[in-house]
Amino acid sequence: MADTDASQPVAPGADKTPDSLEVIRRFAETYAQRTGTYFCVDPSVTAVVLQGLARHKDELGGALCPCRHYEDKQAEVSQAFWNCPCVPMRERKECHCMLFLTEDNAFRGDQQTISMDEINAVTAN
Ligand code: SF4
Repeated sequence: MADTDASQPVAPGADKTPDSLEVIRRFAETYAQRTGTYFCVDPSVTAVVLQGLARHKDELGGALCPCRHYEDKQAEVSQAFWNCPCVPMRERKECHCMLFLTEDNAFRGDQQTISMDEINAVTAN
């Protein structure tokens, strides 16, 4: 297993489709509201993770966590442990990507929504 820094989201791909990003964006908003979690105070963190999830959904057919290294991404999608929301998030509200932050997290903002315009604005250039 390769040694990676799981706290760092991977760079988003430029090839994700707007449709998949919108699906992921809506999922994240609903899931944050349902779990009582919040997006990061820095919206660029949220935007980069959402783009990474959308890219994986396009490339792999599943929203594999974008903040980890995998030897075989397709096999990981099949196993589903790291498909968002991953097992650590579902069981313990642990999101190492900082997409879903619990109320007591120092980096949480007060938003459970993010618009497509905001995603595009903070990830432009
Ligand atoms: S909930 Fe899990 S899979 Fe989804 S972004 Fe967070 S760490 Fe990654």
